[in-house]
Amino acid sequence: MSKQQTISELLSIGRPLLSVEFFPPKSEESIEPLVGAGKRISTCSPDFVSVTYGAGGSTRDLSATVSKRMKDEVGLNVMPHLTCVGSTQEELGEIVDDFYAEGYRNIMALRGDPPHGQSDFQVTQGGFKYASDLVAFIKDRHPDICLGIASYPEKHPEAVSLDADLDALRIKANAGGSFITTQLFFENAAYFEYIDQVRARGIELPVFPGIMPVLALKQIKRITQLCHSELPAELEAKLSAVESDPEAVRRVGVEWAMRQVEELIEKGAPGVHIYALNKAKSAIEIINAARNA
Ligand SMILES: Cc1cc2nc3c(=O)[nH]c(=O)nc-3n(C[C@H](O)[C@H](O)[C@H](O)COP(=O)(O)OP(=O)(O)OC[C@H]3O[C@@H](n4cnc5c(N)ncnc54)[C@H](O)[C@@H]3O)c2cc1C
Repeated sequence: MSKQQTISELLSIGRPLLSVEFFPPKSEESIEPLVGAGKRISTCSPDFVSVTYGAGGSTRDLSATVSKRMKDEVGLNVMPHLTCVGSTQEELGEIVDDFYAEGYRNIMALRGDPPHGQSDFQVTQGGFKYASDLVAFIKDRHPDICLGIASYPEKHPEAVSLDADLDALRIKANAGGSFITTQLFFENAAYFEYIDQVRARGIELPVFPGIMPVLALKQIKRITQLCHSELPAELEAKLSAVESDPEAVRRVGVEWAMRQVEELIEKGAPGVHIYALNKAKSAIEIINAARNA
């Protein structure tokens, strides 16, 4: 199995990296349309795509299938995500070894959210409590895997303070993280202020901003509530004004995201990770605009 390029290697080229995130579908039948979206996205040559890891067993299998098809059939550089939820260290070791044997050289290492119906994260017996434990574990097993770690410019919802969250980020970075990808945000000031604090903590890893082009108002209200990100009043008003016209809503979302991306790259972000919500069109428009800026 040919091995994929690491994100650290891609970064050494010295231009901003543009990447797209997919999440696995809930059923086998929905894999085909998602692979179709991957094929459409491949037309604008993203530097890599990532595939999230679900909390439930079946979603995990679908996650692996989607990653493999995006890699082998579509020809994308794929970064699978992996979480600590519901797995022992032995099981996580097997998953990581399988990823390695398949040729993946990038993994987004996460603690994970509690499975549906569970309010708090529960440590699996024989498993890990924090993402930093998983990072150290993978690094020890396969030192050449490039590890992404998550961060939260508006604070992780469970953290008692941004300071405490940044301390935890430093532990995770020192455990062997290679780069950081942020939770979605809509005001770039949140990113730039966060970067100052990250650097003040001595964390020097590249920090990819996570950008989500809005597709629907109700959906984005739900998402921002879940991940405790701020939906700016100005954006909400623009979306509300055209709420009954889905294409107009999408356009507002794309234009807002394009403005964010342009400024982020201009002011030195190492690239942008697009939370595409499995839809190709907006992500392609944003990537093409960023390349032509
Ligand atoms: C880019 C990105 C991708 C994601 N992909 C997925 C996915 O594929 N699947 C999924 O289920 N979820 C995903 N998530 C959501 C993520 O799993 C949740 O936000 C989860 O609640 C925290 O994961 P983490 O890896 O940041 O955990 P951690 O880094 O372990 O942090 C969890 C909490 O513990 C605290 N903490 C961490 N280490 C310590 C320590 N040593 N001492 C004290 N406190 C500590 C942190 O401050 C934080 O509050 C993603 C999030 C992002 C930003």
